[in-house]
Amino acid sequence: MLEDKDFIKSCDVPGPTKEAIRAIILYKSEVSNTDKVVDCGCGTGGITCEFSQRAREVISIDTNPEAIEVCRRNLEKFGLGDNVTLINDNGSNALKDIDNIDIAIVGGSGRELENILDVIHEKLNPKGRIIITAILVDTKVEAINKLKELGYNPKIMEANVSNGRVLDRGIMMISENPIAIITAKKR
Ligand code: SAH
Repeated sequence: MLEDKDFIKSCDVPGPTKEAIRAIILYKSEVSNTDKVVDCGCGTGGITCEFSQRAREVISIDTNPEAIEVCRRNLEKFGLGDNVTLINDNGSNALKDIDNIDIAIVGGSGRELENILDVIHEKLNPKGRIIITAILVDTKVEAINKLKELGYNPKIMEANVSNGRVLDRGIMMISENPIAIITAKKR
């Protein structure tokens, strides 16, 4: 796993998604080196960089040009990116041109989540996995309802990880979340 502290950050771009959460996403995704992955709302590239090391191909999309630039710089910093395509566009639009997806991660959707999930559903291979990270309660509810409407059996996990900081007089636990990880698998 890459370490949070090693990522280039920007005050205009959220992320990276914390290491423990990236680890949960990786194991839930069942990623292998034959998979084609889409990271919609790639931000700083926290998730893109992890999948670039494990998947066949990663396509990362973000509406914010600054996010695309930071993601590109992180890939370069970690010596990754040969199998990554970066697209500066809205996910619902960019996804229309992408076929045969094995894993779709939605880390950001604005108000477009339902449209994005409609396109992902259409483009996802059988046995393909969808993973949505959500901070807003509203996004969690929207994601679950939409996945059910599309015929999935969604699962939701809320993660609340605290890391210890060792001080002179003890260890202080510092919380970094909570965040929900919503997963679904195509039949
Ligand atoms: N997982 C990322 C953090 C994602 S933050 C990391 O590890 O760094 C969410 C990102 O989603 C933001 O950069 C935002 O610009 C992007 N975003 C929001 N709505 C979007 C949409 N409709 N299409 C594509 N990207 C979107």
